[in-house]
Amino acid sequence: MIYDIIVIGGGPAGLTAAVYARRAGKSVLILEKAALGGQITWSPKVENFPSIESISGTDLGDRMASQAMAQGADVEIEEVTGIEDCGDFRRVNCEFGAGYEGRAVILATGAKPRMLGVEREEELVGAGVGYCAVCDGAFFKGMPVAVSGGGNSALQDAMLLSETSSRVYLIHRRDSFRGEEALVRALREKDNVEFVLNAAITRLLGEDELTGIVVRQNGEEREIKVDGLFVAIGHEPDNGAFASHLELNEQGYAASNESCVTKTPWLFVAGDCRAKKVRQLTTAVADGAVAALAACSWLDK
Ligand code: NAP
Repeated sequence: MIYDIIVIGGGPAGLTAAVYARRAGKSVLILEKAALGGQITWSPKVENFPSIESISGTDLGDRMASQAMAQGADVEIEEVTGIEDCGDFRRVNCEFGAGYEGRAVILATGAKPRMLGVEREEELVGAGVGYCAVCDGAFFKGMPVAVSGGGNSALQDAMLLSETSSRVYLIHRRDSFRGEEALVRALREKDNVEFVLNAAITRLLGEDELTGIVVRQNGEEREIKVDGLFVAIGHEPDNGAFASHLELNEQGYAASNESCVTKTPWLFVAGDCRAKKVRQLTTAVADGAVAALAACSWLDK
């Protein structure tokens, strides 16, 4: 079968694109490499999505996924490795199997967690070092943990972990936070949260498992005993596999016009993988709608 539209990425942007495309009568396949819902499922609480006062990211992601499937979008859990232009249609190649065919493609691959870049970080992933406190925080019940970062993700992670871990060290490279003041105030009131500011993590301790971190603060080194370190220092795009069809900026984000149209007529981009100023849940779903309508109008030409 040749789908009208293949959406790569099942986060808020991709799921919204699928809803709009289905409602415009197009056949749609969503390819997602992990779980539907995307990055938002890592947020313990979302309180800035219009019409919903407060919801967990997992619940919101589940609702979006159910809506897209109820509209008739097909879903496959597959990791996409590249896209081949076959003239009248595109072949979307995946890690396993023969791939899938579609006329238009919407890229909604989001972004992956940025790594600290400290020695042995990769080696200790899953052995104390993690990037998702919502997913893995419960493993550190009653244990001391650290969170690195100064944005809303780090603040929210610290808040979540303070409910279960014995102590939370919030390590940030500056003396003020980029995240919301209300969250900072709430954290200051927690007895088991310590702010470690103007500080950089320079070393990870432990053989097979993390046992602590070394932090450089005001020119001095300090050792902090922790069993877990959650890195929440933002995200980076993952557009490398599609580079030949896109124009990427210095940071690797895909260029498009305000209709989410790229330099390649059959390829559209939506959400955090796109070069733009504001990366929020609301702007991701807006992109999803815009990209889907642009793809539909290209297909109808
Ligand atoms: P972010 O806002 O970009 O913050 C990243 C933080 O990490 C910054 O404080 C930055 O420091 C620090 N950082 C970056 N690179 C670093 C490095 N190499 N070493 C140490 N620190 C580093 O990222 P985010 O917190 O993931 O949030 C991304 C977007 O999602 C934001 O717009 C945020 O508001 C939004 N968000 C929304 C919700 C929600 O509830 N709706 C939840 C989470 C996130 P500097 O400040 O010094 O640059």
